Amino acid sequence: MKSNSNLYLYYGPMFSGKSKKLIEVYNSLKLQKIIFKPKIDTRSKNFVISREGGKIEAIPVDKIEEIYSYLENIDIRDIFFDEMFMLEGNLNAVIDDLLLKNYRVHIASLDKNYLGNEFIEIKKLIKKTPEFNRHKLFARCHICNMPSSWTVRLTDGYLDNDKSPEIIIDDDSRKVIYETRCDEHRFTEKILEHKEIYKDSEHIYK
Ligand SMILES: [Zn+2]
Repeated sequence: MKSNSNLYLYYGPMFSGKSKKLIEVYNSLKLQKIIFKPKIDTRSKNFVISREGGKIEAIPVDKIEEIYSYLENIDIRDIFFDEMFMLEGNLNAVIDDLLLKNYRVHIASLDKNYLGNEFIEIKKLIKKTPEFNRHKLFARCHICNMPSSWTVRLTDGYLDNDKSPEIIIDDDSRKVIYETRCDEHRFTEKILEHKEIYKDSEHIYK
C-alpha cells in the first residue's frame, strides 16, 4: 500500500538552503541510498552542491523515468532528488510508484519560478506530502534581509518579466543574476546604491 508518510520535501526559493538540508539528511542516513540530480543543471556536473556548504556525488538524469535502471539489483530504501523541478517526465506518477514500492523519497526543489509562477508538478507534490515531512524554507531578501520566499531574475540590473526569455544561454553581453526577495521587495528594481550587493553575489549565472 502506498504511504505518503515516506515522502519528504524541502522547498522554497533559491538560496534557502534546500540542497544543504538534503545533503545533511543524505549524510545522516546509514543505510544504502542513492541520489539523483537533473542533467540540465551543468554547473555542478555530477555533484549536488550547496552554496551554504556540502557536496555529494549524484547521478545526473534528464527524465525521472531513467532512475529505474539504477534501482535494479540493489537493496535500497532511500532515494534522493535535488532540484526536482528541472527533471522531465511524469514526476508525480514516478514518485507515487516509488512510494508504492515502499521506498523513502527525499526531494529538494524550487516551488516557483523567477516570475513567481508555481511549478505545477511540485505543487502537487507539496499537496501530497504529509505536514510533518513538508519543510518550506525561506531565504533572506537581497535588499532588506527579511525572510523571503520569492526568486527573481535580473538581467543587466532590471527585473525580468514575462516577456523575458525563459532560458538564457551563456551570453557575455549581459549580466544575469538570481536573487531572492521578500513580499515587499518582490518588484523592486535594482538601484545603484545596491551595487555592493552585486559584488557580494558570487551566485552569478552568466
Ligand atoms: Zn525585502
